[in-house]
Amino acid sequence: MIITLDGPAGSGKSTTARMLAKRLAAVYLDTGAMYRSVTLVALENGVDATDAKRLDDISSKISINFIEDENGQRVMVNGRDRTVEIRTPEVEKLVSTVSSHKVVREKMVHLQREIASKHPKVVVEGRDTGSVVFPNADHKFFLSANTEVRAQRRVTQNSGSGIKTGNMVQEIMERDEKDSTRQVSPLMVPQGAVEIDNTNLSLDETIERIIRLLA
Ligand code: C5P
Repeated sequence: MIITLDGPAGSGKSTTARMLAKRLAAVYLDTGAMYRSVTLVALENGVDATDAKRLDDISSKISINFIEDENGQRVMVNGRDRTVEIRTPEVEKLVSTVSSHKVVREKMVHLQREIASKHPKVVVEGRDTGSVVFPNADHKFFLSANTEVRAQRRVTQNSGSGIKTGNMVQEIMERDEKDSTRQVSPLMVPQGAVEIDNTNLSLDETIERIIRLLA
């Protein structure tokens, strides 16, 4: 069984997907972490976010594995735990540009399908998982919330980083714009997806709503 959860930054996808997967004893697949991993390796190797050829090379060679431990899910990139580094502002700034390359997306989509094929139940989270990666998913959801609320959630998530809500509104709007207008696999409501606006819903309420819809 494949369940997809798409939506813009700060829509609560990650937490919802992680908790939903736990409730359903399913594997949680964070596709954003994969694009972030490619971005991190590019940054560390001085590869420009517009250099399709070198990004293609990185995407072809990269190994990305997800490991569950008592602290949650760890992201292993080329054998090293990079869970923290893929969330830095530097990566955040470039990830939309890196993920807009067709060559990068093709490689990541292939990896995503490969990972999903190994498990009976998967909750996949991203921007194109219901539209491109798994168009025949058993259940598709699209989460959204207003921009202010999404920015506030990200600031709370990154507390201690010194990022202000105003800056985050700007950052989120820019990322939404890039993700929604790119040529390859833009962020969109996938055909057949149930839309959930969770501006005024708690995490538990969002999950309960999804669980009811799965029945
Ligand atoms: O979900 P997260 O914020 O970690 O995603 C980081 C970025 O990765 C997004 O802004 C988007 O540019 C890219 N992404 C994507 N397709 C996905 C998941 C993420 O293009 N399926």
